[in-house]
Amino acid sequence: MKIHEYQAKKILSEFGVAVQEGIVANSAAEAEAAFTKLGVPTAVVKAQVHAGGRGKGGGVKLVKSAQEANSVSATILSRPLVTHQTGPQGVPVHKVLVCAAVDIAKEYYLGMVLDRSLGLVLMASAEGGVEIEEVAQKSPEKILKETVDVRYGLLPFQARRMAMQLGFAENELDIVVKTMQGITQAFIAYDCSLVEINPFVRTKDGKIMAIDAKILFDDNADFRHPVYEELRDNSEVNEAEIRAAKSKLSYIKLDGNIGCMVNGAGLAMSTMDIIKRAGGEPANFLDVGGGVQQDQVIEAFRIIVSDPHVEAILVNIFGGIAKCDLIAQGIVNAVKEMGLKHPLVVRLEGTNMEMGMKILSSSGLKIDTATGMADAAQKVVAAAKAKK
Ligand code: ADP
Ligand code: MG
Repeated sequence: MKIHEYQAKKILSEFGVAVQEGIVANSAAEAEAAFTKLGVPTAVVKAQVHAGGRGKGGGVKLVKSAQEANSVSATILSRPLVTHQTGPQGVPVHKVLVCAAVDIAKEYYLGMVLDRSLGLVLMASAEGGVEIEEVAQKSPEKILKETVDVRYGLLPFQARRMAMQLGFAENELDIVVKTMQGITQAFIAYDCSLVEINPFVRTKDGKIMAIDAKILFDDNADFRHPVYEELRDNSEVNEAEIRAAKSKLSYIKLDGNIGCMVNGAGLAMSTMDIIKRAGGEPANFLDVGGGVQQDQVIEAFRIIVSDPHVEAILVNIFGGIAKCDLIAQGIVNAVKEMGLKHPLVVRLEGTNMEMGMKILSSSGLKIDTATGMADAAQKVVAAAKAKK
């Protein structure tokens, strides 16, 4: 789950990280008032969206007066923001954050992720800022790493060593160490999957602070953090994705025209791959889960066909906990109830597969069955092409 910059900054400040918080504004008028309240000569207006790359995409703008804060915010709030992380359609902007502008002398990168084989990994670079992805790709040696044992947290010597390697001066070490420890504590306390400060800056007048922050929560920990609900902003999430989550389906919309219904994330991913290999483009990732029930099958179909780009559907189910005959019955019921018109290819494998196939073939419906994944992919790609 993603949250906004202003929310991430608030969390990090609770853990002693020196962050520049700013004032949240829901309208141009509020942004104007925020500028006046800050009482600074120059501020930045920052689009609050669930995507990075805002600086390059025009979502972070310097303003020099309350009037300018108003007009710049009005523009930012008026249209979807497109960054390299959003796709060409962009994401809607409902809020901006107004912060004092600082004179940056140097930008650093600080981030923490969970590495399943190592534990928590704190990453840092003296080459932070909007080009960090390029640094990671072209000169990975410029990214420093410290592995953290969750039982003890980030030890002071680890943080100091890293801070010194980054080139911080003696008198800056305390604040940098405190920031790194704050990142670690927040990461553990909130069950995050990512905490990132980019950039962490030294200003020309020698102040050290975080001027951006990003946090992702691990959805698996949802049940023990009621606060996730308070921080959730669904206005940026695709409607079909919200609907899918309600039925415990994991759905991600993609750009192609072949709708997919698959059980198990691994099988779903290999299904995407094999569709691409057969020359097609998946319209979505949809994992209905290992123990999929009949009512989820119909909801899954509804979600798939709610995407107007879908031209053919592939159902790829491995019957383990889920029985193929029950799934087949679910498919038949769904097709009848919905009057599904899309070409449909079904591949069933596993428990009660023969019974499942029989239910499909004796249903009198136009359902194409496939043996094996390659066959299924070829059939569905051909069906989608035939519709064009
Ligand atoms: P994103 O990561 O989405 O591009 P950032 O908050 O990191 O957004 O802002 C992008 C860039 O804008 C930063 O790297 C920094 O150079 C500049 N910037 C952001 N906030 C400020 C600020 N308060 N004062 C001066 N420059 C800023
Ligand atoms: Mg940033």
